[in-house]
Amino acid sequence: MLRASALISPMTEWSQLTHAYGTAEDVPGLLEVAGPDPESPAWDELWSRLCHQGTVYPASYAALPVLVGKARQLTATDRTMPLLLAASIVASTDRPCGIPDPKDAYAAETSELIELAEEALRHPSLADSPERYVELLEALLAFEGVEVWGEELHGLSGEEFEVPCPACEAENFVVFGEYGYFSTTDSLYMNEATGHRKELQPAAISSLEGLAKRLHVRALTDGQHKVADALTYIFGSAYCAECDALFLTSTLRPTRRLAGGGSAGSPDRQRTPLPQSWHTPRPYTGGMLLGVEEVHQHA
Ligand SMILES: [Zn+2]
Repeated sequence: MLRASALISPMTEWSQLTHAYGTAEDVPGLLEVAGPDPESPAWDELWSRLCHQGTVYPASYAALPVLVGKARQLTATDRTMPLLLAASIVASTDRPCGIPDPKDAYAAETSELIELAEEALRHPSLADSPERYVELLEALLAFEGVEVWGEELHGLSGEEFEVPCPACEAENFVVFGEYGYFSTTDSLYMNEATGHRKELQPAAISSLEGLAKRLHVRALTDGQHKVADALTYIFGSAYCAECDALFLTSTLRPTRRLAGGGSAGSPDRQRTPLPQSWHTPRPYTGGMLLGVEEVHQHA
C-alpha cells in the first residue's frame, strides 16, 4: 500500500490556497494522518476547514484527488470518511465565485468516486448499518450530480424531513419511524404525543418512478428493507398540519434544523442517532394526491 503522503502532490501550493480558517498549509498534514477511523480528530479538522457548514473553498477542491486516493487505498468498509467528505465538497453549491462545478473540473475523480462508492454500497457489512448505507447512497447521488438528494438523503436515517408547506409556507415535520408516521408543525413532537398530527400517505410501490424507483429497487436489492420502506414515505405525500393542503413530500426542498443539519463525522455533520429499530410502515391508505402546482392553484 502506498503511504498516504505519496497521494499528496508536491505540485499543490497549499499555502497559496485557502480554507475556512485561512491558508491551507495545514491540510496536507491532516490528510496524511486521517485514516479509516471516523472518530479520528483529523477528519473533524478537515471537515471544518474544507466543508464548513456546507461552504467550500479553493483548498477543498485541491483535496479532492487526495481524498480519491485515500478512498482507493482503503477497503470498501474503511473508505467511508474520504467518500463522505468528498461528497460534501462535490455537492456544495456554496463555493467561491469563478470556480467551476467540480463535477466538470474533476470529472475523472468524480467517476472514480462513483465506482468506489458503488463498491462500498455493495459490501455485505452494511446489512446491519442502514445509517451508513444511507450516507454512502447520498454520497453516490452527490457524485452523480443528483440535486437535493445528494445532500439531503440522510434525513431518511433521522426519520424526519422538515419541509415548508407549498400552500401556507408553514414548516412541517414529516416524521416516519419510531415516533409514528405523520406530519406536524410541532417541532417537539418527540416529547408530545398529543400535538396536531396528520397521517402520512406513503407512495404505493407500483407508483414509484425515476429516482424514487431506482433508490427503492436498489435498497431492496442491497437488503436494506427499512431504507426501502422509508423511501415510500419521502416519495409519498403528506397533509400540511396547518392548512390541510396535500403535497408531495419529495418535491419540496427540505430545510435544516438548527440543532441538526448535516450528518455524522464532525461538528459540521451532526445528526440524530439512529433509533434502535425502524418500524414497519402502515399500508397505503389511498386518497387524492395533488401535485405541488395543483396545490398552489387550489390555495
Ligand atoms: Zn399549509
